[in-house]
Amino acid sequence: MSIVTEPTHPENAQTADLVEGLRAAVRGSVDDSSRRRAEYSTDASNYRVVPQVVVFPRDTDDVLAALEVARAAGVPVTSRGGGTSVAGNAIGTGVVIDLSRHVNRVLEIDPEARTARVEPGVILTDLQKAAAPHGLRFGPDPSTQARATLGGMIGNNACGPRAVAYGRTADNVVDLDVIDGLGRRFIAGRGLDPVPGLDALVRANMETLRTELGRFGRQVSGYSLEHLLPENGADLAKALVGTEGTVVTVLGATVNLVPVPAAPVLVVLGYPDMASAADVVPALLAHAPLAIEGIDARLVDVVRRAQGASAVPTLPAGGGWLMVEVGGATLDEALERAHALAADAGTDAVGIFPPGADAAAMWRIRADGAGLAGRTASGAQAWPGFEDSAVPPARLGAYLRELEALMASHGVDGLAYGHFGDGCVHLRLDIPLERSGNPLRAFMTDAAHLVASHGGSLSGEHGDGRARSELLPVMYSPAAIGAFEAFKDLFDPRDLLNPGVLVRPRPLDADLRRPHARPLLAAPTGFAFAHDAGDFTTAVHRCVGVGKCRSDTSAADGFMCPSYLATRDEKDSTRGRARVLQEMANGTLVTRGWSSPEVHEALDLCLGCKACSSDCPAGVDMAQYKSEVLHRTYRRRLRPVGHYVLGWLPRWIRLVTAVPGLAWLANTALGVRPIAKVVLAVGGMDTRRSMVTFASTPFRTAWKRGSQPST
Ligand SMILES: Cc1cc2nc3c(=O)[nH]c(=O)nc-3n(C[C@H](O)[C@H](O)[C@H](O)COP(=O)(O)OP(=O)(O)OC[C@H]3O[C@@H](n4cnc5c(N)ncnc54)[C@H](O)[C@@H]3O)c2cc1C
Ligand code: SF4
Repeated sequence: MSIVTEPTHPENAQTADLVEGLRAAVRGSVDDSSRRRAEYSTDASNYRVVPQVVVFPRDTDDVLAALEVARAAGVPVTSRGGGTSVAGNAIGTGVVIDLSRHVNRVLEIDPEARTARVEPGVILTDLQKAAAPHGLRFGPDPSTQARATLGGMIGNNACGPRAVAYGRTADNVVDLDVIDGLGRRFIAGRGLDPVPGLDALVRANMETLRTELGRFGRQVSGYSLEHLLPENGADLAKALVGTEGTVVTVLGATVNLVPVPAAPVLVVLGYPDMASAADVVPALLAHAPLAIEGIDARLVDVVRRAQGASAVPTLPAGGGWLMVEVGGATLDEALERAHALAADAGTDAVGIFPPGADAAAMWRIRADGAGLAGRTASGAQAWPGFEDSAVPPARLGAYLRELEALMASHGVDGLAYGHFGDGCVHLRLDIPLERSGNPLRAFMTDAAHLVASHGGSLSGEHGDGRARSELLPVMYSPAAIGAFEAFKDLFDPRDLLNPGVLVRPRPLDADLRRPHARPLLAAPTGFAFAHDAGDFTTAVHRCVGVGKCRSDTSAADGFMCPSYLATRDEKDSTRGRARVLQEMANGTLVTRGWSSPEVHEALDLCLGCKACSSDCPAGVDMAQYKSEVLHRTYRRRLRPVGHYVLGWLPRWIRLVTAVPGLAWLANTALGVRPIAKVVLAVGGMDTRRSMVTFASTPFRTAWKRGSQPST
């Protein structure tokens, strides 16, 4: 069944001209339907910004064409990869360009130089697969690596567990093929010449760049202008990493690769709580581990509760664990290093996991952390915002204790985990967002002061986006903020590239999604939504956008989401569907409630397989939501004919086989191709498929007689 969604705003002449201009210039699809705009109205953040139009360029020329049209029209552009940004970095009002759909090739792997050339939409695991035959991989590995793109990683300066060994994305970039807000395309590498005025900016701000920026590894907030200093090689490519699409659009990248460790061994260390675990980190760093991750025991409990005790390997005792990975040329060498590290870990609660199913299960739990932490231990919904703060690792224990006290003083809770080896803490908090952004603003402001007092960074790897840009003055002097603005203006003086982010920011409580959603209370004859306070709106806001439904998890026995894997279209992902349902609850873009065509189009290809109900770490159950939508739409109303043709198939079969000779008659009629085509079309099926034939003897009857049913 296919329902066509009308473009919603032809009345807006400026949008109509823009869309027309884009369609004339771009070979890929240009979609301004309300359903599509709903799907791209948010990323994995708290924010909602509805774009005017979404463009899916076919190749680099298409990207350039789309940018040219937007520049000529003076319309903002937001580049987007997997859309897994957690701070509202990948949403915008004007044109959203999705580079993940087509501009996603690994162009070259050079095993000698240990480099790769990629297009921006390449998913990290695809690059890893291409590099693996050469014994190589890209170093940084965000937990979202199965759907995050290299363009998005460059945009956010992504890190991940192994950044403690291999550095951030900025440390692994050789050069970037970019185009700025003025339409100037250049290769950014070492040297400031491509951008007139950049050298003067660096010379005018030497002192600020040397003292305020690059103080520790996870100082990801703000622009990383320290890379432009002469002693750091005046590296423009590295300085452009982490600029969140606000100064250039990345068209291609050359990145470094590192050797794949031979036999990494996982050591799990138990401590009474997360802060005690953090205290040990500096001692463990001396063992040069590949990763040091912290994880709250209560997060692991969530997995046990949801998937059963067998989903979690036997772990040492503790309220907080460190997951430490060590490498070696051989398994024996790695095991030896694991035992040496455990001896320095200040705990007897030690588990050592060589490569295998148990280690893989632990890493899976860690990777699902953000989705699992979407609920607190008490089951309340928890939100990002302060989800990736970082301090120098030596300050981590003290910082965590004060952060816990701050949370208590605001009456909020959350489950912590993160890249403790780099001092980076992931945390989602049950700040009430249902009514207003005030509680978020209050907590964020206090927390910003706390992290700054430890010499830390508001963001340790996700970037500032809309959540933290406003708070940069807590961390930086007016001189540094002035240098950021001057840097932006050299590349994008008209503020067309991802405006509202980093420089001249939107308020952190503007554009919040949740406060603008209306409750849709459970109906007496529908589902109770007991786990979501009886509110369909709360249920669909379980989707926080982590995007696991955009990954192919079949190798790890995952099934979600078969329809997305078939079409690779956000529309057919669990996340895309949840976004459209969230917009239905909002009611300003998707306006016709349960019977909105956008909603039915989004749910059309959902198979109702319930894979998401078990595989989605946030507990989204789209099959249930689809049943509720269909029930609310059609209760006491006529359904589309296709529902009766297919939905009533068991009834038709009983009827046809109950009357002797009717099966023969039906088969004869349906054997006539034109008749079969009409029936298929009416049933909403592809008319090219073959028609079923009815058995002359029902299966049950044949079974009772002890014979095989006839066909
Ligand atoms: C569950 C979860 C776990 C996460 N774990 C980690 C982690 O371990 N480590 C980590 O670092 N991050 C993590 N993240 C954050 C996020 O996944 C990463 O930042 C990731 O690299 C973003 O990639 P993306 O393709 O989704 O980018 P998007 O979200 O689409 O975009 C990211 C930014 O880059 C810009 N951008 C995208 N493409 C381009 C381009 N071609 N040119 C210029 N700008 C561009 C966008 O405008 C945006 O500002 C996590 C997020 C979630 C939801
Ligand atoms: S129930 Fe629907 S949305 Fe969920 S995994 Fe299956 S097809 Fe995807």
